[in-house]
Order: sequence, then structure tokens, then C-alpha cells
Amino acid sequence: MSYTLVIHGGAGNITPAIMNAQMEADYTAALQDALRKGSDVLKKGGSAMDAVVAAICEMEDNPLFNAGRGSVFTKKGVNEMDAAVMDGRTLEAGAIAGVRNIKNPIRLAREVMLHSGHVFLSNTGASEFALKQGIETATDEYLFNKSRYDQWVEIRDTDYTQLDHKGDNLKGGPIPNTGHKFGTVGAVACDAAGNIAAGTSTGGMTNKRFNRIGDSPVIGAGTYANNKTCAISCTGHGELFLRAVAAYDVSCLMEYKGLSLQDACDVVIKDKLVKLGGEGGMIAVNAKGEYTFCFNSAGMYRGMANSAGEEIVAYYGQ
Ligand code: ASP
Repeated sequence: MSYTLVIHGGAGNITPAIMNAQMEADYTAALQDALRKGSDVLKKGGSAMDAVVAAICEMEDNPLFNAGRGSVFTKKGVNEMDAAVMDGRTLEAGAIAGVRNIKNPIRLAREVMLHSGHVFLSNTGASEFALKQGIETATDEYLFNKSRYDQWVEIRDTDYTQLDHKGDNLKGGPIPNTGHKFGTVGAVACDAAGNIAAGTSTGGMTNKRFNRIGDSPVIGAGTYANNKTCAISCTGHGELFLRAVAAYDVSCLMEYKGLSLQDACDVVIKDKLVKLGGEGGMIAVNAKGEYTFCFNSAGMYRGMANSAGEEIVAYYGQ
């Protein structure tokens, strides 16, 4: 069975200075676990979509990442999660935004794609649908994460929002950079049948207000897949990835301009987003199983496993 699976666990200010040996070991193990879960699906001839969901569930269950169990806190001190999947074979997609108390938001996104008759559900409506479909819920206690909580406490009395991986704000001034808590997650895969799929899951930004939604669940911005071109999952400052329509732009550059996967990702991440001031990265795969990791930040938690037996896990920039 020929396959390729690529994952990310967030991009940002990831440097040896903010990591230590224990953290490296923890992230390596977490990324390897996710690669294993996804690869197990693909080895058995399973679909790219199922592999993407399996790999992302594993990361959602790990508090190291800002998704599922490790989600950041909003201004109101709750978790509001966003997720999306897209199937490159059919161009079907499913997404959810601002959902609470769901154990694996990526499963709910797939359920929306398969059984809702819609593409994008939000907030209490998405929860209602989850209940109806028997999607597993999670208590506030399960979703509570001390380091994310402390990260929020530091800025909850301000108007600032903070990317999980970088001090940032909506008004232009600096805020305390709580350092090394990174982690939106994503996966893209190419299966033995040559079909590709993409998925992304996140808790968004710490201290986000007004039911803010980032790029991750927006088809074409943070997540996109089309067998003709590529499957993409993004991570970074969502507002800029939304404005750049980043994931679909890569697909367009390939479809309409004939760019290679690598060149198209480079144009979007290293040129267009840089000019807009958008920090972050993306993972990409095409239907030939070619892949790339592309980022303009100091680092990106990332991994790749394929049917040739190659496995990569890395964090820092080259
Ligand atoms: N892109 C995500 C968002 O803006 C955050 C991230 O990738 O860390 O919600």
C-alpha cells in the first residue's frame, strides 16, 4: 500500500532556547503516536480521510497541543474549538466553529460532512447536532489544562488576544509572551488509491472574544483538499490566513499557474503571507504522495510517515 501522511502540531517561535530535552522527548513521542495512528489506517488500505481523522484525534487527546484536550481559554474562561475536514476526491467538506465540550472536534467536523447536509455548523447548533449523532462529549474538567489556564490568567483582564505560540494582540502593542505553549494541529494524507484529504483542529487564540473564529475551520483558508492539486492544513495567525485565503491560494497556483506543490506553498507562506505580516506555516501533500512542510516562523512541530518506511519528526527551522 503506497501512502504518505503529514502532520503538524502548530508553528511559531519554536527554537532550542524555549525547548529542553524533556519537551523534545514529549513532542517527539506525541508526533510519533499521531503518525502511527494515521499510518495504521493507511497501511490497511484505509482512506486518506480516515487517516487524517485518526492522526488528529490522537493530537486532540494530548494536552500538549492547542486542540481538543489542550485547547486554550477564551475571554470568558471557556474552551471554544474549531475544526474542519475536506475530502480531495469528492470536494466534500465539514466544519465546526466555537463548539464546547466535544472530546474530538475533528470527528464532529467529519460527521457534519457526512450526515448534516451542510458544510459549516457553529456554536450551540453544532453541539445540538453532535448530541443527535452521538458524538462523544467531554467535561470542563477533562478539557481543563493548567498551562493554558495560566496563559489566559496572564492576559484575561486585557483586550489582548494571544496566538498560542507568540505574543500578539489586536491593538498593536506588545503583551507578555508566555513563551512556549504552541499547538493547533493538522494532518494531510495521500492514500493507496491516490486520494488526498486534509484536516485541522484548534482551540484558537487565548483570550479570544465575541465568538472569534480563525482560519482553521474555514474551507479554503486553513484547510483545503482537491485531488487535482493538493491537500493543505495551515497553522499561524488565523486573521492573516483568512485574508490570504491561504490554503486555496496554494491550490489555485497549482491549478491555474501550473506551479509545483513546493513552489505554490513557498509563494503563499514565504512571500504573500510575509508581506501581509502573517506568521505561520502549512503542511501539504498531492495525489502523487509528494509532500512539503512550509513555514515562515522560527519552527513548526511536524512529522511525516510514508509507505517507504521513512519517518520524520522535527520542530526547528532549517
Ligand atoms: N490558526 C489558528 C487560529 O488563528 C491558531 C494556530 O494555528 O495556532 O485560530
